[in-house]
Amino acid sequence: MNKIFLGCIADDFTGATDLANNLVRAGMRVVQAMGVPSEPLDAEADAVVVALKSRTVPAADAVQESLAALRWLQGQGAQQIYFKYCSTFDSTAQGNIGPVTEALMDALAGQPGGDFSIATPAFPDNGRTVFKGHLFVGDVLLNESGMQNHPLTPMTDANLVRVLQAQCHRKVGLIDYKVLAQGPEAIRARIDQLRADGVGLAVVDAVSNDDLMRLGPALRGLPLVTAGSGVAIGLPANFGIAPSNTASALPPPTGFQAVVSGSCSLATNRQVAAFVQAGLPALAIDPMQLAASGGGAATVAQALAWAKGLLPKGPVLIYSSATPDAVKAVQARLGVQAAGDLVEHTLAAIARGLLDLGVRQLVVAGGETSGACVQALGISQMKIGPQIDPGVPWCHAQSDAAPDGGLHLTLKSGNFGTDDFFIKSFRCLQ
Ligand code: ADP
Repeated sequence: MNKIFLGCIADDFTGATDLANNLVRAGMRVVQAMGVPSEPLDAEADAVVVALKSRTVPAADAVQESLAALRWLQGQGAQQIYFKYCSTFDSTAQGNIGPVTEALMDALAGQPGGDFSIATPAFPDNGRTVFKGHLFVGDVLLNESGMQNHPLTPMTDANLVRVLQAQCHRKVGLIDYKVLAQGPEAIRARIDQLRADGVGLAVVDAVSNDDLMRLGPALRGLPLVTAGSGVAIGLPANFGIAPSNTASALPPPTGFQAVVSGSCSLATNRQVAAFVQAGLPALAIDPMQLAASGGGAATVAQALAWAKGLLPKGPVLIYSSATPDAVKAVQARLGVQAAGDLVEHTLAAIARGLLDLGVRQLVVAGGETSGACVQALGISQMKIGPQIDPGVPWCHAQSDAAPDGGLHLTLKSGNFGTDDFFIKSFRCLQ
C-alpha cells in the first residue's frame, strides 16, 4: 500500500467523518478507521482519520489512545498529524484538547518544527469563526450559544487563548486576523516571532474560507496541526493534491436500500415525516412495546418480516425517532440509559438483518445509533465518498454481513441533512 500524507486523530466518531468529508472535497482519498487499527492499512489513501471516542473520557485515557493512534499513523508513513476536535472546542477545564495536544507535541518534539503547533476550531461554512481569539457560533460568542449549558463540556468562556492556556503547560499565543489577512508569509513570520517569545501553541483567527486557504500553505511541514474540520480545506494542496472527482469515487452501488433511524433530533424527525409523506414504506418501533416484549428479538423478527417483501420495490425506513415529549415519557418509564441501549441494540440488530436480506445501501440516522450499527456490522474502516449534505458523505465498507463486496452506508448525525435526506441520499448514489 502507498504511504499516507496526512494522519488524523479525531476525538469522536461523527467529527471524524466531518473531517474526512472536507479532505475528500479538497481532493484527498480518505479512509476512516473506527478506533486504532491492529493491522497496517489495506487500502490506497492519501489520508487516514482514526476515529476515537476520547472527547470526554479521563484526560489520561484520551492521551494514551491518541498516542496509540499517532504510532499507528506514523507506521503508515504520515508526514503530518492532524488532531481534530469539535468546532465548539468542547472540553472540560482539564482537557482533553490541551493534554492530548501537548502529548502529541512531546511525541513529535524531535522533528523539525515540532516545538510549535496551532489550534483553531474555525469552520466558517458552519458558522464557526474565531476573531481576536474569541470563538463565535453564528452571531454569538461561544459562551452565549447554548454551549454554556452542555451537560458534559460546558463552554463558559469564548476566549480560546485563555481556555487552552488553562489546559496547557506550554505558553499559548495568538495569530490574529490581521496577520491572516496578509497571507502565508506573514503567518510564518508571526509563528517565528511567537517561537522566539517562548510560545509553543497559538490560537489562530479565521473568519472566512479565504483565511483558512491562506493558513494552509503556512502550515506546510509543521509536524502537528490541531483544529476543527475547517483547516483541512487548505492542507491537501501542500502535498500537491487538487480537488477532483476521483477522490470520492466508490464502487458502484448494489443491492436493496434501507434507512434505520434512532435519532430524535428535530432535523431527523422532519426527515422521517418527509419519507412518510412521500408515501414510502415506514415502520415505527415503539420502545414501550419493545420493553414489554422482554427485549428485541421479537421486534427484530417482525421488522425484518415486514421489510422482506417491500425491499425489492424500493427503500424502506425503520425508525424509533419520536418527539421530545414521547422520548421523555419513555425515559421516565425505562430510564434514560436503559431506553437508549435497548433502542440502539434493537436497531443495530435490524440493520444486520437488513443486510442478510440483501440491503447494500444503508442510511443510519443518529450518532449513537450509528456507533451501535457499525459495531453490529463489524465495520472497522470506511472509504469516504461523495458528500450528500455538508458533513455527511456516502461511504463504502466491508462487513461480514455483506460478504459479496461490502456495502454503501452513510452515518448522519442528528441535526444534519435537509428534510428530504432519506430520499435524496439514494438518488445521490446512483
Ligand atoms: P442524535 O445524533 O440525534 O443525537 P443518537 O442516535 O446519538 O441521535 O441518540 C439518540 C438516542 O435516543 C439513542 O440512544 C437512541 O437509542 C435513543 N432513542 C431513540 N428513539 C427513542 C425513543 N423513541 N425513546 C427513547 N429513546 C430513544
